[in-house]
Amino acid sequence: MENGKPPLWVKDPLGIFAKSAERGIVVKGDRIVELVPAGRNPTERTDIFDAGAHVVLPGLINTHHHFYQTLTRAAPAALDRELFPWLQALYPIWARLTPEALGFSMTLAMAELMLSGCTTTTDHHYVFPAGLEDSIDIEVAAAKRLGLRVLLTRGSMNLSQRDGGLPPDSVVQDGDTILADSERVVARYHEPGEGAMVQIALAPCSPFSVTTSLMRATADLARRLDVRMHTHLAETEDENRFCQQLYNCRPLDYLEDCGWLNERTWLAHGIHFSAAEMPRLARAATTISHCPCSNQALASGNCPVCTLEEAGVQIGIGVDGSASNDASNLMQEVRAAFLLQRSRYGVGKVSHLDALRWATKGSAACAGRDDIGEIAAGKIADLALFKLDEPRFSGSGDPLAALVLCGAYRADRVMVGGRWIVEDGVIPGLDLAALMERHSAAARKLQSGR
Ligand SMILES: [Zn+2]
Repeated sequence: MENGKPPLWVKDPLGIFAKSAERGIVVKGDRIVELVPAGRNPTERTDIFDAGAHVVLPGLINTHHHFYQTLTRAAPAALDRELFPWLQALYPIWARLTPEALGFSMTLAMAELMLSGCTTTTDHHYVFPAGLEDSIDIEVAAAKRLGLRVLLTRGSMNLSQRDGGLPPDSVVQDGDTILADSERVVARYHEPGEGAMVQIALAPCSPFSVTTSLMRATADLARRLDVRMHTHLAETEDENRFCQQLYNCRPLDYLEDCGWLNERTWLAHGIHFSAAEMPRLARAATTISHCPCSNQALASGNCPVCTLEEAGVQIGIGVDGSASNDASNLMQEVRAAFLLQRSRYGVGKVSHLDALRWATKGSAACAGRDDIGEIAAGKIADLALFKLDEPRFSGSGDPLAALVLCGAYRADRVMVGGRWIVEDGVIPGLDLAALMERHSAAARKLQSGR
């Protein structure tokens, strides 16, 4: 027993994404301590959670997002545009963000993720207009209230229109301010080691929205503070041309030149790599966050997931920002990845189990963690439980396949570190209706410019 509570047997699940756990798993404290195979019982006395109506997954891990963009979903100004003009339409709206609206957006985004079976999420926050210097602090507070495990990134932009960059001057900061605040938030919030609930990474928006000197200084700081690094790379052909014009090389060459091609780095998108670049990523142990819905909505291209994996690159799944995906549902993103990659590579190469693996173990690699992402003895007890009680599942055979193929989108129960954060499809202690009312009012105000 730990803290006076007996271990919990998640008993006899309808299906489970683990081997030799037909009768379920035992959770003690924040860990999975035992997998119970067919015909056996747990080795110690336990409380019981009857999972007879549930399919159990390792908690899904989201490796790329921009929470604040929940305020600009389906924004009329940005509809039907490709990445660069899409960004140019949205930057002036994002420049009007307020701390209050930001708080609503972050809580809303995390709640949406949790209800879709997510137990760990990253967020890439890189807009810091005046008055929003405390964005990461607001975000940490929201994550702690909800009980979600997070890898938040201190994003940055210091190259604005004034210097030939895309964003307006009002949303960028100078390099010294960015580095000082990066160091502050790591010192204040980053928990190293197993079981961490809050971690911080450093994340220039893209190599083309910060100066070369800030890219290099960020890599130096990440090494010194022992934290991870994140950015967008190889998302569009436009970016390749932009890089060629500006630096006379390809984006990956520039990344390497800045000290970023290493095991600390995970990259969002990773679509437009050449065959010769993939083994370089693998050797460096740099990982890729595949964002299938965003890539399709912005017509950015299709990440060559299986080719990257064959080269030795680990792949995770990200929903990406809610202005490009327009949703933040991680379970739906698993289905999107499955369909997109199967249509590219064929039936023999991609199964529903691959898609589930990308969103769990693969995503854990992006987050630099080996304590989460799998149901195994000794791992942290982060779980997502789904019921198959809707018309869309009726008549299904294989429960794991049903989740992906029939389109599961809402978890019934979610556990983080041995604690339920979603129960019966509801987040205890969160008035979701009131949050949505405030959040949508803030979004209307932001989008209308009033
Ligand atoms: Zn993004």
